[in-house]
Amino acid sequence: MADCIFCRIVAKQIPAKVVHEDADVIAFEDLNPQAPTHVLVIPRKHVPTLNDLVEEDEALLGKLHRAGAAIAKARGFAGSGWRAVMNVNRDAGQTVFHVHLHVLGGKPMGWPPFPAA
Ligand code: AMP
Ligand code: ZN
Repeated sequence: MADCIFCRIVAKQIPAKVVHEDADVIAFEDLNPQAPTHVLVIPRKHVPTLNDLVEEDEALLGKLHRAGAAIAKARGFAGSGWRAVMNVNRDAGQTVFHVHLHVLGGKPMGWPPFPAA
């Protein structure tokens, strides 16, 4: 999709600090990191949200998570812990409508991920 910022990263039309890429997925540093490691893993295929997944995308979702785990292992926090996050639509704070897995790690994190009411 021409107006999708992550499709433009896939197409190398805008720069990103790419840390992994293969035939199906690409991973790059988040512009506004929320942890010592904050990498986004995305499919090359444009899928707007998890709500839009179809059966043929099932393997792709596994690849996103396996790439996230490989990044966590390479950076040394696979054992101590990391978080995989996929925000969906407004209430979750999704701002880029091309599916992406946030890989967050390198320091302890809180839970739950929303302020007390
Ligand atoms: P979300 O709120 O789940 O849609 O996450 C979108 C993420 O994309 C945010 O963490 C942004 O900091 C990040 N982001 C937006 N534009 C870029 C970009 N051009 N390069 C890297 N990260 C980006
Ligand atoms: Zn896209």
